Amino acid sequence: MHINFTKHLLNFKDKDLIITNTYINNDKYYIDVEYKKGYHDCPKCGNKTSKVHDYSNRIIKHGVINGYFGIINYRRRRYVCKCCNTRFPEPNTFVYRYAKISNLNNDLIIKKFNEINNFKTIAKDLWNVHTFLNSFRIDIAIPVINGRHIAQTAM
Ligand SMILES: [Zn+2]
Repeated sequence: MHINFTKHLLNFKDKDLIITNTYINNDKYYIDVEYKKGYHDCPKCGNKTSKVHDYSNRIIKHGVINGYFGIINYRRRRYVCKCCNTRFPEPNTFVYRYAKISNLNNDLIIKKFNEINNFKTIAKDLWNVHTFLNSFRIDIAIPVINGRHIAQTAM
């Protein structure tokens, strides 16, 4: 029962995903997950297979959970097609291929970037762009000779 709550808290929506273990070590919250074994379509020939080729572990960052850094320890299963001998990983909904951070963490990062205003937005909201950019300009004192600026005398 508590595993179901954990899935909701971690925003895992896949029914076939199983949380096998959770534990805290130092400042990290580890979540061990794997999918139920099942039949999957071969990406090359389309034949259904449930024959497992091998397993591998993927470590995926999953944001901050209750003040701890969330780490998903994903036991990824690879299937092998009996017809064409193609090996392929099981499909998953929480991390892209080769990614080191989860999709949810990706979404949160993009959301945070949207919250941050850039100079142009701030300038548009508060003043006109010219006034805003001028407030950050560094004024350099230009020496004056005979009542004229050096830049003017050189001309
Ligand atoms: Zn195949």
